[in-house]
Amino acid sequence: MESVGTVLETPARVLDAARAQRAVADQAEARILALACDWADLHPASPGEADAFDDPHLPAVAWDAPAEFALAIGTTHDAGARLIHQALELRHRLPRLWARTMAAGTPHGLQSWRARRIAEHTIAHPDDVATHLDATLAPLAHQVGPVTTHRLLHETLTRLHPVQSVAEHDQAMNTRHATIRPLPQPTGMAYLEATGDLKDFLDLNHTLATIAAILATQGNTAPLDVRRSQALGILADPHHAAHLLTTTPGALTTTDSDSGRRPRLRKQLVLYVHLSHTALANPRSGAGALGRLENLSLPVLSTQIRDWCSRTDTHLTVQPVIDLNDHLAVDRYEIPERLHEQTTLREVHCAFPRCTRPARTCDHDHTAPHAQGGRTCTCNLAPLCRRHHRLKTHTRWTYTTPTPGTHHWTTPHGHTYLTNPTGTHTTTQPPPAPPPRGCWHPDG
Ligand SMILES: [Zn+2]
Ligand SMILES: [Zn+2]
Repeated sequence: MESVGTVLETPARVLDAARAQRAVADQAEARILALACDWADLHPASPGEADAFDDPHLPAVAWDAPAEFALAIGTTHDAGARLIHQALELRHRLPRLWARTMAAGTPHGLQSWRARRIAEHTIAHPDDVATHLDATLAPLAHQVGPVTTHRLLHETLTRLHPVQSVAEHDQAMNTRHATIRPLPQPTGMAYLEATGDLKDFLDLNHTLATIAAILATQGNTAPLDVRRSQALGILADPHHAAHLLTTTPGALTTTDSDSGRRPRLRKQLVLYVHLSHTALANPRSGAGALGRLENLSLPVLSTQIRDWCSRTDTHLTVQPVIDLNDHLAVDRYEIPERLHEQTTLREVHCAFPRCTRPARTCDHDHTAPHAQGGRTCTCNLAPLCRRHHRLKTHTRWTYTTPTPGTHHWTTPHGHTYLTNPTGTHTTTQPPPAPPPRGCWHPDG
């Protein structure tokens, strides 16, 4: 191995050296987790003594044990205690993740910080929830982020403990608040903090954006964030807000207040909610059922969706189901709405490795270029965000699509990655040869 500080003369050697050092660091981090467990084993709580973590799912540790270990690894007491707690959670309740963590630095290994982040989510939850997350996330843990982990936890809790989940949701709704506090400095500024229904806040967000945009057209040159804050002040005076919105051409869909119809903001907020028919139709059986809010990739309780749909400020449009396995094709460059929608629903986000831009905001790329005969069909389309579309078009990044929804990328330095609905995977396989015109259904 090259010594650190040596000037390496080729990009490939720099990448090799960085990869080797990463493996060494990952192994050391895993070793610290194992030592944290050793430390806990050496300091069990005596009968009647307080447990450092007060966690009934794990062996009790003497309350005063974590402090010294924390100092030894150069962290605060709290951070050190957290690390020991997470290490125990992994070893006792997340055995698959623990095994991968202990193999850190090898191709199958998992970096400690990723394992710890998952453990942080499962701590204190029931054993069956921890077991399910361990089984589901262990093969994918090297690539899932906190949002996915949180979503899976939420789904698992809802599925395995539905009564508790609905109760927690009701309880959460009771914690809604809007609190204003003056800042301590005498600047005449205050701080607003609020917790509320997601849809209410998305609507508010949309109104703030609309008023901020109107202010800009009136010559207000303040930055967007400042204008959004000013918009809150305008909303505090409903007459002012109504005047601004009704007298700005194009801000509302109708200004005809005599018709008895309530004027609406021109661009209605659109939420794409995916929900099974059973969950929507049968309120009782669907109590613990989940839908998915596509814009935010968030699971939501079906009871919550029904509540939103029954509100007077919600306009509901039901879209027919598109079979994601159908082969759709047209003989032109432009992508028809139905094919566009099928690609969006199938891929969820940008097809580039580790990119999470929502597919709905992406360009749809002909994998085999249309100018070179590539077909406009289910097999030959992939969503690429603007940045990654440019990379693919103007640089040496290339990809092929072995099956719809799976993409095999090759970097300018010849590294290969596979992206599919479960995320991004490194691969050493050479890219498969694409079918003629990028289509697996020459006759379909
Ligand atoms: Zn992207
Ligand atoms: Zn095709």
